[in-house]
Amino acid sequence: MSLAVTGATGALGSLVIDDLLASVPADQIVALARDLGKAAPLAARGLIVREFDYDRPETLGIALAGVDRLLLISGSEVGKRVPQHTAVIDAARTAGVSRIAYTSLLGAKTASSPLAPDHVATEDYLAASGVAFVLLRNGWYSENYIPTLHAAAQSGQVLTSAAAGRVASAARADYAQAAAAALIADQPAPVYELSGDVAWSQADLAAAAGEVLRRQVTVQNVSAAEHAAILTDSGVDAATAGFLVAIDSSIAAGELGVVTGDLNRLIGHPTTPLIDTLRAAA
Ligand code: NDP
Repeated sequence: MSLAVTGATGALGSLVIDDLLASVPADQIVALARDLGKAAPLAARGLIVREFDYDRPETLGIALAGVDRLLLISGSEVGKRVPQHTAVIDAARTAGVSRIAYTSLLGAKTASSPLAPDHVATEDYLAASGVAFVLLRNGWYSENYIPTLHAAAQSGQVLTSAAAGRVASAARADYAQAAAAALIADQPAPVYELSGDVAWSQADLAAAAGEVLRRQVTVQNVSAAEHAAILTDSGVDAATAGFLVAIDSSIAAGELGVVTGDLNRLIGHPTTPLIDTLRAAA
């Protein structure tokens, strides 16, 4: 059986491939990469490497020849992802791929997050495609808070407008393991709502950062407008600041704090605690 992974040169894709290699021979894994040079180490490990660029439909069908199951890792460019993902789904259907697993967003259908619309559109397109699918609705990576850790090392503060919102994050490696498991499983569920075992508060984040940094770290909880102003005053462009504040608003609304247990069950062990990810990054 041939298993293919898009974004194979990315952080999540690389980890998925490491996990697949633990139970699947390398010559049954197709690493799909838009930059073949970057994928050279994967070819050296015995994987089949093929060029695959979401923006160049002519690369897609040929790369999926003979592939049974595909992991579509969502693209990185918010706003461009719907045409990119639908092109991949079309090519997979034409190539006879029997299952597509897609990395979506926790609670995608109800989330207010600016990330949600691309994921919902992709999920809907996938459901209408006729190809069997697995939705891996990923919660937040704990790694998203590594910049917060570095900022706290300087300022002694965690800047947030997430108020009392909690985050049930897990390590990127946990989500990768889940994706590999969903690809290998004979009868996966159609939808997994994947999140960490612990929903931590901003105070918990500050405490964890303080423990790792061995200094006092406090929470600077501000309004959304103040948050945007602080970010832009520090040189962040307005669009990025607006995006970051919107993410904190969705956290304040509780959207990323849901503990479902799906991730723990799929990977067969507890999710990685936030402090372990921060400690590894410090
Ligand atoms: P990375 O940026 O490390 O990897 C993204 C991968 O997608 C890279 O391999 C990249 O290729 C590939 N890619 C991007 N654009 C294209 C394209 N046009 N055609 C083909 N391949 C493309 O991100 P992560 O691995 O950390 O995350 C994977 C995805 O998860 C992200 O793209 C994003 O959608 C989502 N995400 C989720 C987060 C969460 O907290 N849940 C946080 C961050 C991201 P190349 O190596 O050539 O750049």
